[in-house]
Amino acid sequence: MDDLYSDSDAETFADDPVGLRAYTSRLLGQSPELVLHGGGNTSVKVSELDDFGQPVELLYVKGSGWDLATIEPAGFAPVRLDVLQKLGALETLADSDMVRIQRGALSARHPNAPNPSVEAILHGILPFTWVDHSHADSLVTITNAPNGEARVRELFGARVLVVPYVMPGFLLARAVAGVIEGMAAADWAGVEGMVLMNHGLFTFGSTAKESYQRMIRLVSECESYLQRQGAWHVMAEAEPVAPQLRELAALRLAVGEELGAPVIACIDRSAEALGYAALPNIADVSRRGPVTPDHIIRTKMAPLLVSTGPKTGADAHQQMAADVAEFALCYRQYFERQAEASNTPLTMLDAAPRAAVWPGQGAVSFGRTIRDARIVGDIARHTRRCIQRAEALGGWSALGEQDLFEMEYWELEQAKLKRGKKRGEFAGRVALVTGAASGIGAATVDALLAAGAAVVGVDIAPSVGERVGSASYLGCTADLGDSTAVNAAVEAAVEAFGGIDVVVSNAGTFPPGCAIDAVSDAHWAETLDINLTSHQRVLRATTPYLRLGFSPAVIVVGTKNVAAPGPGVSAYSVAKAGLTQLARVAALELAPAGIRVNVVHPSAVFDTGIWTDDKIAARAERYGISVDAYKRNNVLGVEIAASDVADVVVALAGEVFGKVTGAQIGIDGGNLRTI
Ligand code: ZN
Repeated sequence: MDDLYSDSDAETFADDPVGLRAYTSRLLGQSPELVLHGGGNTSVKVSELDDFGQPVELLYVKGSGWDLATIEPAGFAPVRLDVLQKLGALETLADSDMVRIQRGALSARHPNAPNPSVEAILHGILPFTWVDHSHADSLVTITNAPNGEARVRELFGARVLVVPYVMPGFLLARAVAGVIEGMAAADWAGVEGMVLMNHGLFTFGSTAKESYQRMIRLVSECESYLQRQGAWHVMAEAEPVAPQLRELAALRLAVGEELGAPVIACIDRSAEALGYAALPNIADVSRRGPVTPDHIIRTKMAPLLVSTGPKTGADAHQQMAADVAEFALCYRQYFERQAEASNTPLTMLDAAPRAAVWPGQGAVSFGRTIRDARIVGDIARHTRRCIQRAEALGGWSALGEQDLFEMEYWELEQAKLKRGKKRGEFAGRVALVTGAASGIGAATVDALLAAGAAVVGVDIAPSVGERVGSASYLGCTADLGDSTAVNAAVEAAVEAFGGIDVVVSNAGTFPPGCAIDAVSDAHWAETLDINLTSHQRVLRATTPYLRLGFSPAVIVVGTKNVAAPGPGVSAYSVAKAGLTQLARVAALELAPAGIRVNVVHPSAVFDTGIWTDDKIAARAERYGISVDAYKRNNVLGVEIAASDVADVVVALAGEVFGKVTGAQIGIDGGNLRTI
């Protein structure tokens, strides 16, 4: 474990304990082997003056919903310490009361503070100014191995207190209160931390540095212990394999169907993921439970194990659906078993897996957003390492089903998941947009991202890779004139997000005007290739994935010229007319698979790469009108922007147009020649 503490960095917070608290919390958060995605929490006890000039003791503790990796001073909730200590002395306390009372005990000087961590009482009763808490992989690996407690005691002796597993929150605070009750100041000498069995590690100190460095030291000693036991370099690895992308899309569809909503699927084909999936006892070890209880909220108790039968061909979806159905059945049985024993009536959560172990392909994680899917993927990666190390110590044994169920159905954890869950209409759906580097394509990428989709932008211009800085976007440079390049871009899309649901076939060029008797063979061939044949290549490559998509839709970008051709652009108009016909045939052919195909015919969209100010001025002059009049030369008298076209494209891919296919929609402000 690297010690990241820097005296010079810390000095900038000399008179700012909460700033210093945020600093060393971020140091913990930077090490994924200590905490992952919102795990862990920290605190500092501070004496302040209240609004009446009276001194008040406050616990600044990590606020719910903040992540240690990125926490700022505003992420700490200042709670009155005397209230927390009184709560810690109670015999019983309902979770909802705990949250209410803690909220009421927040310093009035910080009205916008977040809710305190569910571990606030525990932080409050520990007699140290600085307290750090992690779910360190190596520590939990040891506690989740046979004789875990004896190993911890042998390793640390009196330097740590050991607390058997108890549900986090008030019950854990009570258990800790029982352990530290009656300990005099002298008894704490030499105590650096506290091990929570099957859960994690607390350290504490009189300075931020002491508490942080104790965490690093104790965890480093756990790592050394694992190395001495021959349980460190034990990760199974396997050779790379050929990706089964259609089967991946089939798995993604089956999981989304069980969930009742589209999901992003992230595949991990690393040597470690493949090696783990190939373990002879994978069906057993992968189902023994998570590293630390709060992971269950994101991962469920175990991943789906994809069965090893053949998954290829047209039946892939059916076979994946059978695996998912079996997982869901087990989940329902688990819920029924455990809910029966519960005092309060509970509503079952969805029964869809969050992760899969796929022998021969690696690991897959699922989420309504790419962020959620990646969080699950990170947890799965750490989990398989902990499992294999504990196996080397004699066997992975996580918490029992009942403890895990209590955690999964704990109202406070469920509340965490509900916060900040306002999703766009397209959450979980994947769109591929061609000609995405500029104009209508770029505007469509932006509109789809804003609607919550994951988007793959394809363009011959390399700038397509850089134009959006979002985890939900992948830019692919590809020449659509080359079938191999088209196939590679489509495969990259599936590799990145697990499938394709929406195709916006937009790439095109508008060649300079040229009379029929002057059109060269090359001009004709090139114009037809990009404006017609390239769309056929994209349709051919994406159709197998659209068949496995969520509410699949194709939107083809045509032009007003199809219905109202003009002189001098024969090749272009012919190509777009052919493209429109291709879309109409596709609407017929793909309808049995539920794939909708519609066409938009934009006209006079001037904020695209095709137009320059000079070109527009020249056109306006030719018609003998002003530039402004030329831009608004339609029956509504409005100017059409690329974003206007993008909005219609997104609507066509959405629910409102869910029963429309084979339609052609002009986006031109109304044209006398086409109305
Ligand atoms: Zn914890």
